[in-house]
Amino acid sequence: MAEKRKFKKRFCRYCQGKVEFIDYKDLNQLKFSLSERYKIMPRRLTGNCKKHQEMVSEAIKRARQAAFIPYIVDRKRVIANPFELIK
Ligand SMILES: [Zn+2]
Repeated sequence: MAEKRKFKKRFCRYCQGKVEFIDYKDLNQLKFSLSERYKIMPRRLTGNCKKHQEMVSEAIKRARQAAFIPYIVDRKRVIANPFELIK
């Protein structure tokens, strides 16, 4: 499956990976549900199930408080792959 079509297919990638708990420190898991401006992706785009979407949003909010991911991204500083910064 090509990378460009990753939001076309409807499946919960956390269910597929049998993820029981999403850690706010685990940015590799959170980034599937973050847009390039660190916003939480809506469920209709990611295909997450409700259970995991709630876990993800909870984890992302915690990660923001712990400064793992920024709250806002400057419009001028939007770059192609923001996850290079937080690795
Ligand atoms: Zn799920």
